[in-house]
Amino acid sequence: MRFHKSETSFFILIVFLGGVGIMLYRVKTAVDILSPISASENAATLVDYIAAANSLAALFLVAALFCGIFLIYPLIRFQAQDHGKLQEMAQILSARSESLAHAALTDGLTGMQNRRYFDEALKEYLAQFGRINKPVGLMILDLDHFKSVNDTHGHVVGDAVLREVARCLKDYTRYHDVVARLGGEEFAVVAPNMDKELLAKLADRIRKAISEINITIDDAHLKVTTSIGVAVWDKREGWQDFYRRADKLLYKAKNMGRDRVCV
Ligand code: GH3
Ligand code: MG
Ligand code: MG
Repeated sequence: MRFHKSETSFFILIVFLGGVGIMLYRVKTAVDILSPISASENAATLVDYIAAANSLAALFLVAALFCGIFLIYPLIRFQAQDHGKLQEMAQILSARSESLAHAALTDGLTGMQNRRYFDEALKEYLAQFGRINKPVGLMILDLDHFKSVNDTHGHVVGDAVLREVARCLKDYTRYHDVVARLGGEEFAVVAPNMDKELLAKLADRIRKAISEINITIDDAHLKVTTSIGVAVWDKREGWQDFYRRADKLLYKAKNMGRDRVCV
């Protein structure tokens, strides 16, 4: 069996303290013997013995103190510092893994949730709201002719438009709605507890708000429009079929001339 340095030091301390104890016990026994004896040669020998035992006890005590101050205390201090460092490192690592997890679910450009988050949230919302028999609505939005925005004004302007659209979506949705950028110029909103009519009205307000976004480049004003597909979960279909149904409605809106909502 191998002992740690601190354990060995502790055993040494115990041995020294034991030595102090034994010596003091011997002194006490000698004193007990000495008291009934009058001044004699035996008494002189016992006095010498007591003095020797006392010196040994003092020596053990000094050794114990030495061991405590120079061996055990530095080890305790070192371990405390080590513990502090480990705790600090654990905090840094957990903050880093939290920010990595956050980054894995967030869209870097707009700061909104990404596709990965959206898929999981849609599954979860259907399961939870299905249990309490409440409606779940889904909107899929795609900006119209966005390629020409990039082609005409460049990617930087395109990115600014995407950020503005994201801000607008956040403004028009509730805290428990899931708002995500699915990729490119495509966004989605999962809005629970809203029937078809309410959802259609909300989608149209969003469409109008996006069409009113004003991006100024030099002296020109840039406008964008969006097409939106809206569906309410029929409580039987799986999340992918539900998504596909909303997506089909989006393409219907595109085919019907864009800048509109199809329910
Ligand atoms: P439609 O009305 O049919 O949707 O036409 P569209 O031009 O919007 O559609 P299309 O799919 O042809 O083009 C989408 C464009 O979105 C292509 C690409 O240049 C642009 N895009 C995708 N991701 C980004 C991005 O992160 N930043 C910018 N600035 N543009 C992007
Ligand atoms: Mg588009
Ligand atoms: Mg698209």
